[in-house]
Amino acid sequence: MKTPNTLLANTGTTIFTVMSALANQHGAINLGQGFPETEGPADVVRAAAEALLDNRNQYPPMTGVPELRQAVAAANKRFYGLDMNPDTDVCVTSGATEAITACLMALLNPGDEVVLIEPLYDTYLPVVRLLGATPVLVRLQPPKWELPRAELAAAFGPKTKAILLNTPQNPTGKVFTAAELAFIADLMVRHDTYAVCDEVYEHLTFDGWKHIPLMTLPGMRERCLRVGSAGKTFSLTGWKIGYVSGPADLVKIVGKAHQNLTFTTAPNLQRGVAVGLAKDDSYFETLGSDLAARRDRLSEGLTRIGFKVLPAQGSYFVSADFSPLGFTGDDVAFCRHITEHARVAAIPVSAFYEGEAPRNYARFAFCKTFAVLDEAVARLEAHFSAAVLPTSLTHAARSA
Ligand code: GLN
Repeated sequence: MKTPNTLLANTGTTIFTVMSALANQHGAINLGQGFPETEGPADVVRAAAEALLDNRNQYPPMTGVPELRQAVAAANKRFYGLDMNPDTDVCVTSGATEAITACLMALLNPGDEVVLIEPLYDTYLPVVRLLGATPVLVRLQPPKWELPRAELAAAFGPKTKAILLNTPQNPTGKVFTAAELAFIADLMVRHDTYAVCDEVYEHLTFDGWKHIPLMTLPGMRERCLRVGSAGKTFSLTGWKIGYVSGPADLVKIVGKAHQNLTFTTAPNLQRGVAVGLAKDDSYFETLGSDLAARRDRLSEGLTRIGFKVLPAQGSYFVSADFSPLGFTGDDVAFCRHITEHARVAAIPVSAFYEGEAPRNYARFAFCKTFAVLDEAVARLEAHFSAAVLPTSLTHAARSA
């Protein structure tokens, strides 16, 4: 038999699925895969449920139902002052995952280079490679996750077609600053490149940090494809509704990619999301403050146990250095260990890097109820204060 696609055959099952399965197997609290524990807004869910009952269940328009394209355009204007024509500048997809793939398909030819920033979301590299393009990786390092500007500049060259930028960033919780974005924009203009902007956590920022779309910077409107996700904005990750906003000439090609991937996505869910995007400012404002309180609750608990928790300015996640606890294995071993023995699951941060990576950080999702976060901390606390570790290390962990 001839060999099927080598790249996909050699791609492992995503770490999120692996850790969720392990969590289920051990009855662990799942702070691994990032999904909120509570349902999204009732009016949005109800709108989608009612939309099933009015005879609009056949193929919707390829680029999205008009209600949702209009709502995406209006949200671009309301939150960022961006003008989008709902008929030409917006394409609705089956989740941000499809949107990112469609954007990369729309921009890349075989042989093009794409600048990617590690740590990175796990769909980026396989898709870039499947398209025959070459990833050029630039790394952020903990604990500060600062953008290494000289390295980023060196990553751009004559073959660079695009940069893929994720802000607020998974798994670091980093929100790129205006100065960092200006630096990126300058490189893009100098090297005549595009950007795919993964902004799924756009509304999930904390402590006064505001998400700035790269597209809002001078000269960027025509170069950026901006990706949002209803899954994150409305705590409905199973719905898989994403949206791309960008210049008409590029969005038209994104539509061609979408036409060949899924063609369209469930009309009732699209109509529910349109209701969501029209919600009052207060809904979007409280998303961040509500999550920040959960971040603090989990961070305080982890810190008490002895973890060194890194600050997060956005997203669902905190990264925590577990080396003060005296665990001697790497992050993959640590996340397995706590899932199996403390019954709390997390994601190893090295899964977001290719090759050499920091090995002493675990990513914890805090988009959970306070009771669940407290129970997770109590389980970890009980585990790490029990006789599992040598006394000296246990003591160090307690007094840290
Ligand atoms: N984005 C989610 C996370 O980072 C997972 C999505 C998935 O499971 N594919 O946890």
